[in-house]
Amino acid sequence: MVISLKDIRISGKQEADFSFEFNTDNLCDIPSVRLCCPIKIEGRVTLTGTRSALVEADIYYSLEGECTRCLNVTKKDYQTELYQKFSEDNEYGYRVKSDAVNLEKAVIDEIILDMPSSFTCGDCAPIDLMEF
Ligand SMILES: [Zn+2]
Repeated sequence: MVISLKDIRISGKQEADFSFEFNTDNLCDIPSVRLCCPIKIEGRVTLTGTRSALVEADIYYSLEGECTRCLNVTKKDYQTELYQKFSEDNEYGYRVKSDAVNLEKAVIDEIILDMPSSFTCGDCAPIDLMEF
C-alpha cells in the first residue's frame, strides 16, 4: 500500500485515486470473531506540499464469527473513513518517506478504532430493545 508522491508530481497532477486490497492479521479481539481478508480500500491522495500529502479513503472490511448473544455464525460488513495527513515529521508515524506514503499503519489503526466492541447477528433481539 505504498503510493509514490513523486509519480503524482511527475504526472503534473495534484492528486491521484487509488484502490488496494490487502491481507492483515486478525485485528478483532472479540472471542470467536475474526476479521475477513482481503480488506478493501479506495480513496484519493492529494499533494499538500513538497513533502506532505492528505489521504482520504473508504475502508471496507467484514467480520465473521459467532454472534455474541445467540452464537449463530454470521458475517457483517463495515465501512469506515480514513482522513489522514502524512508529512515528514508526523508525530503519529504517518510519514512521507522517500517521496512516498505507506498506508498500512494508518489503515490498520483506523480499523482498530472503528472495530465494534460486540458482534451480534441482527436476527436475535436488536441491541436497542435489549436495553429495556
Ligand atoms: Zn444473534
